[in-house]
Amino acid sequence: MGEFDVIIIGAGFAGMYMLHRLRDGLGLSARVLEAASGVGGTWHWNRYPGARCDSESYYYSYSFSEELQQEWEWTEKYAAQPEILRYLNYAADKFDLRRDIQLGTRVTSAIFDEDGNRWEIRTDGGERFFAQFLITAVGGLSAANVPDIKGLDTFEGEWCHTGEWPQEGVDFAGKRVGVVGTGSTGIQIIPKIAEEAGHLTVFQRTPNYSVPARNAPMDPAFQEQVKANYDEIRQKQRKTPAGHPWDVGKKSALEVSQDERQAMYEAAWERGSLRFRSTFSDLIINKEANDTASEFIRSKIREIVEDPTVAETLTPYDHPYATKRPPIDTDYFETYNRDNVSLVDVKSSPIQEITPKGIRTTDAEYELDVLVFATGYDALTGAYLRMDIRGKGGRSLKEKWEAGPRTYLGLQIAGFPNMFTIVGPGSPSILTNVPTSIEHHVEWVSDCIEYMREGGFERIEANVDAEDAWVERVNEAAGRTLLPMAQSSWFLGGNIPGKPRVFMPYAGGLPTYIQICDEVAAKGYEGFALTAQRSTARDGALKK
Ligand code: NAP
Repeated sequence: MGEFDVIIIGAGFAGMYMLHRLRDGLGLSARVLEAASGVGGTWHWNRYPGARCDSESYYYSYSFSEELQQEWEWTEKYAAQPEILRYLNYAADKFDLRRDIQLGTRVTSAIFDEDGNRWEIRTDGGERFFAQFLITAVGGLSAANVPDIKGLDTFEGEWCHTGEWPQEGVDFAGKRVGVVGTGSTGIQIIPKIAEEAGHLTVFQRTPNYSVPARNAPMDPAFQEQVKANYDEIRQKQRKTPAGHPWDVGKKSALEVSQDERQAMYEAAWERGSLRFRSTFSDLIINKEANDTASEFIRSKIREIVEDPTVAETLTPYDHPYATKRPPIDTDYFETYNRDNVSLVDVKSSPIQEITPKGIRTTDAEYELDVLVFATGYDALTGAYLRMDIRGKGGRSLKEKWEAGPRTYLGLQIAGFPNMFTIVGPGSPSILTNVPTSIEHHVEWVSDCIEYMREGGFERIEANVDAEDAWVERVNEAAGRTLLPMAQSSWFLGGNIPGKPRVFMPYAGGLPTYIQICDEVAAKGYEGFALTAQRSTARDGALKK
């Protein structure tokens, strides 16, 4: 129970920085409510074998503290989950965040009180909190999607979802293991389980493209060089469409000769990483250009996988490369050459039910001791809609977003005053290196709150017109890319049965987005209605 200036939901990258910024920067009273037993958000929950970041750690990290980025030493190019979790715990200690983070506390509802211009927040422990501002730092990929398959409750073995991995781990040694799902997560966990299991059966519905990560121990000389050039690197990140510190290729895939194109793809494959997507300028906007990249990766799958039938089953044709979030891997396709791994195509023979012994498809029953769901998330909206959030007039967010999420800038929702959504739907968030987007949002929100406090405003709300125009702009930006072609992607809600098909993130690129947000702020928060404080008795001055 308590009254605060701000309640923040979630203690991952976003919630922790938000707390630091508001408490230590503006002097506000803030409490973070976090469902997990520790800080770290996605890196607390995703402790499955093989979990590691697909952005290089030197830039998938906080930039706001020069001291932190100078003193932290990364040990690998792509840090594994335990190292990223250690890093976030280190940041929590360094900035003395823990005293204002309440763990093991799941927010169940948040109701806006129009008379008091404040939020009433309730938790699963029966506690009540009141705050002028509610800030959701809930992550875009945090609401686990366990598919509703008949018979799961009858399964006699162990089962788990990768996004809610048991703290004590899972023992696969010598066991018959099934993995459902071949997205980024499946592609990371499959090679690891194969090393341990007696037999691994992969249930694949849609094949995926993947490029080698080429992970390696961190080169000390490179780390030194990064630290000497951090200013430049961080500036660069905010100037590239996806928040990475590299430029997208300048040439079209179609303007070079076939030999040159092949050589460039080979070099990109050898270098590895998400950067493969940036080999040419037009892979995400021109289908013909994209076809060349898609076909190159298909040829690599055929080259790596020894059994031609398995190779063909693993080869994607249904969507252009990178129109789903492109995975990067360590020995993913190679894993199918192992004797203890088999692939089941559940597109051609769908899963009928889960039995006490395993999975039954239309073709056969597969006996399993352990079943792993790498089946993704109810992305971008799931974490919001699993809470009962009610704005003006008691209107629920569920009702407001019935036909898909609507936000202004991915930062606020009309009808839900004084609530800010860090990397919410409608922001570039998940199409970028997420910590870069998070830091931008956190800073924008804290500047906005500072502006309100200095100007004597007690309430801010996105205008419906501004929100409508922004939703239109999000649609237009997606329409200029090939991204909507992956109909089953989570960008579109296509992975969740019954979810409205709406392209949710803003695909116009981070620099354009930052510029728009800056302009909105510079014009006195254009598109938002700001309401002056009603009572002069209340202290509206900025507390320092
Ligand atoms: P995902 O990309 O949504 O993949 C889920 C997989 O499960 C897909 O192969 C999907 O098949 C399959 N699936 C879902 N329901 C199914 C069902 N009922 N029956 C059979 N198969 C089913 O989820 P994810 O792999 O967890 O990745 C989500 C996102 O998290 C990624 O795109 C990425 O942004 C992030 N991530 C990042 C990292 C990293 O940084 N390295 C690692 C993991 C995840 P369909 O394709 O047919 O739907």
